[in-house]
Amino acid sequence: MIKNTVILLEKNFYENGKLEKLLSYELRPNIKEFRAYDEVRKNFVKDFSEKLNNIGSLKLSSNYKKILNIEKAKEIVGIINLNIDGLLKLNGAQKLIELEGNISWFYCSECGLDKDVDLIINDQSQFLCNSCNKNILKPSIPFVGQEFSQWDLKDSWMMLNSCDNFIIFADNFLSPVTISFIDVVEKRSKNIFIICSESLNSDSYDFSSTCIKFVYESNEVYLDSLIEKFGDSLV
Ligand SMILES: [Zn+2]
Repeated sequence: MIKNTVILLEKNFYENGKLEKLLSYELRPNIKEFRAYDEVRKNFVKDFSEKLNNIGSLKLSSNYKKILNIEKAKEIVGIINLNIDGLLKLNGAQKLIELEGNISWFYCSECGLDKDVDLIINDQSQFLCNSCNKNILKPSIPFVGQEFSQWDLKDSWMMLNSCDNFIIFADNFLSPVTISFIDVVEKRSKNIFIICSESLNSDSYDFSSTCIKFVYESNEVYLDSLIEKFGDSLV
């Protein structure tokens, strides 16, 4: 019986993390410079639009569809997503925490106006906030000098402090924040399943705890096995 389960999707869950690499934290502007200099803002939106135009429209992957299906099970407490495509939210995910934010909309930190990302990449003049005219729309992903939303982090800890199972779709990578979450659940002696394709670097973490089980299966195969396990509680 799989009770109270939290699922975490590492940064490389969608298209091997292509988007997360293109828009990785280190490549984002410094938030103070972004707020202070028009040139920094213009360069950002130009670069951002080029990258998104090159990628083309983002499509719901079959693995995401499986996640959306599994999310409906009452045993699922929540899904923590480290991918920034925003597809799960756009497709109706209800128990989702987008810890790294998402790029599907831009907002104005002065007046709160928000705009769909497509508006911005199709017409860069839309980058201006035409409500307060202060010109500082930005996507809801943290820039250099910004941290995760503290609300989202607290919500994640709350879920991890009430779960019996923590399933991580890691493939070949664990982010520092994921390692910190493993620590939370491991201290509570609850089950941790790390779905991966290879042995993960254990320099940064002692994985010897009996709570931690590595599952060497593809995301797809493991998702199918979850759908089978949840069976009746899925519609
Ligand atoms: Zn505004």
